[in-house]
Amino acid sequence: MDYFDLHCDTLTEAFRTGQTLQSNRLHIDLLRGGRNGRYAQLFAVFVPDNMPQAERWPYTEKLLRLIGEKYSLVRTAEQLRQAVVGPGIAVMTAIENGGAVGEDLFLLETCALLGVKYITITWNGSNAWGCGSLSGREDGLTETGKQALHRMETLGILPDVSHLNKQGFWDVMRLAGGPVLATHTASRGVHEHPRNLTDEQIKAVADTGGLIGLTLYPVHLGGSGYEQAERHLERLLRRAGERRVAFGADFDGFPAGQGYDGAEVIQGFYRYLCRKGYEPELLKRIFFGNCYDFFTGV
Ligand SMILES: [Zn+2]
Repeated sequence: MDYFDLHCDTLTEAFRTGQTLQSNRLHIDLLRGGRNGRYAQLFAVFVPDNMPQAERWPYTEKLLRLIGEKYSLVRTAEQLRQAVVGPGIAVMTAIENGGAVGEDLFLLETCALLGVKYITITWNGSNAWGCGSLSGREDGLTETGKQALHRMETLGILPDVSHLNKQGFWDVMRLAGGPVLATHTASRGVHEHPRNLTDEQIKAVADTGGLIGLTLYPVHLGGSGYEQAERHLERLLRRAGERRVAFGADFDGFPAGQGYDGAEVIQGFYRYLCRKGYEPELLKRIFFGNCYDFFTGV
């Protein structure tokens, strides 16, 4: 089984706990992820809202450089094609929270040079670009946020609307000239949670030609277990279509022990969906092909 995942916090957790991405005691590592086939993982540098502004960029740059020194990062479509031959492993990077860059949009050029594929506009709170879904604020993107979006597009860095509040989300939809990602989210129609997307939002992301990555965070799914995850998957497939749905399991973005602690869950979910009669071709797309086609420009 091949697996392509749009979002995890494992880079941040590995750094915090002094472990490696190759093999660790966290939710996922390259060894376990690649055990069953081709494996591509976007590793996000997560910048919490409470990190002092002055520390944010040095921290982000440090982690991006560290991962770049240890692994040959996939930056281009051709590199992705090459990396997963074998079956091989593709390591890609991203930033979770535009607050890492803040007002200094020149840093976006460094992000692009360091191979950053997407930036999540906000985390749960507010930053210089906009307001998160748990910020309690109803403002849309700031002027800096709008400029950042434009700059990112010219540099080939994708916007990620996960965590963003409703107003910011629709601003991105209105202003984006290309595909938009919602890297780790679920359906609000299935479980009412501010982090989840409404049917209308799911369709809007799909209409940009972007991707929606299903999270496996039980709090956002509204329960643990494959059945509950399947309800969200079904809803995403219905609203976004079969080519726009993927995974962004958010491994290491939530505490272990909630029924989803480990890379093994992906394999288990795959088997569960096979038993439920999902077509193998569809499963291949959701677990790998949709992301692969997207990032190789098919
Ligand atoms: Zn997140």
